[in-house]
Amino acid sequence: MSFSTLGLSDAIVRAVTEQGYTSPTPIQAQAIPAVLNGGDLLAGAQTGTGKTAGFTLPILQRLSTDAVGSALKSKTTPRAIRALVLTPTRELAAQVEESVRLYGKYTNLNSAVIFGGVGINPQIKLLKHGVDVLVATPGRLLDHAGQRTVDLSKVEILILDEADRMLDMGFIHDIKKVLALLPPKRQNLLFSATFSDDIKALADKLLNNPHSIEVARRNSTVEVISQKIHPVDRDKKHPMLSHLIKENDWHQVLVFTRTKHGANKLVEQLGRDGIGAMAIHGNKSQTARTKALAEFKDGSLQVLVATDIAARGIDIDQLPHVVNYDLPNIPEDYVHRIGRTGRAGATGEAVSLVCVDEHQMLKDIEKLIKQTLPRHVIPGFEPDPTAKAQPIQLRSGAPGHANRGGGRPGGNRSGQGQPRSAGANGGGGNGGRPAANGSRPAGAASGNRNGSSASRGPRTGSAPRRDR
Ligand code: AMP
Repeated sequence: MSFSTLGLSDAIVRAVTEQGYTSPTPIQAQAIPAVLNGGDLLAGAQTGTGKTAGFTLPILQRLSTDAVGSALKSKTTPRAIRALVLTPTRELAAQVEESVRLYGKYTNLNSAVIFGGVGINPQIKLLKHGVDVLVATPGRLLDHAGQRTVDLSKVEILILDEADRMLDMGFIHDIKKVLALLPPKRQNLLFSATFSDDIKALADKLLNNPHSIEVARRNSTVEVISQKIHPVDRDKKHPMLSHLIKENDWHQVLVFTRTKHGANKLVEQLGRDGIGAMAIHGNKSQTARTKALAEFKDGSLQVLVATDIAARGIDIDQLPHVVNYDLPNIPEDYVHRIGRTGRAGATGEAVSLVCVDEHQMLKDIEKLIKQTLPRHVIPGFEPDPTAKAQPIQLRSGAPGHANRGGGRPGGNRSGQGQPRSAGANGGGGNGGRPAANGSRPAGAASGNRNGSSASRGPRTGSAPRRDR
């Protein structure tokens, strides 16, 4: 994903690119479109997630969309403050304003920062000159308001940055006073790393039907795992996996397939490529499973291929590589799978080989984890852009008795009951019909799901699982 696909203008993308940022962070990927939509936003994100650009870029975009009018107006009257960012500290205020200046350098918007502890007169001069985006700490802002050196009556967007810290520092009354100076019709964005009852109360009062997003805390499981998607054609997955393993000299690679048959087939294929692999799944004897696991743990087995249920007992510290050869059809399984790597704070890598048939599954996963996963096309494995999605059969059935849907038994959440054939282009008109063979491995139709629920969130291990 790039910044331009998020709906930002060339001028803004250029400034971002100059900073060396090529792809948005998860908070940016979610916040930017949400803010551009114009609604209120409640964002759970802490410093270090890229949250500043997450609100700065879309507000610059929104304000610059009608910047022509504002520039014309500014010839006669001073610019009105159209966006107000409140921060708890002077340092943060200065930092945020620097970002506004940096990212807005190719727009005709200007900004200023005001905080206490320094002379007020230079600030009065700046405000008089006209400012589009004002970044301020609440106390000094109210000083200006008291002296009528700031006019907040034209504010269109209010941003409370690090709202939890503002409340911790006792700014709630100041915030309320500032709110009273703003026009009632405006867009409100609230960023906070934590959600105490006080923050919730403030959010309830301030925000109107907000879009809410939350990204993982720094150093949480999900963040220490580097996650990547490798787009690939369905019949190139096996050569791509062999290529990745050999090229990167991967050892202790845990590979997930959707089906037992798929696991067996992959083990054979990897073996032919000179890569030692064994499979564990429901059809393997306990002895075979124990042996495979022991060899995998002690490092003598390079690759272990597993179905979701079989992998449940695998708990290896610092498992470095998890590969989703097939995406799981239950989005929560993705979280369980990647939770096998990066344990105990160690870094790990989770890569997913995704073909056109799995685009809808990927969307569901990204929705669940609230992240857009970075796509990396591997040279030599560029997917065919004209490839059409084919249905993926998720359960076995007697011949001619193909199941429609493939969702969990009795469950129909988030499209789970729908055949996974839509693809990115929204195709899938042939959704529920049995896999028409195509180039899908024959075994893709196996799997026997006899559990039902998987709990949300990472590594909740106790949830009943399905056998496959
Ligand atoms: P913040 O959470 O806003 O304090 O940002 C944390 C750091 O991430 C800052 O040093 C930013 O310059 C940097 N940053 C922001 N956006 C990106 C991005 N898309 N890619 C890489 N780094 C970024």
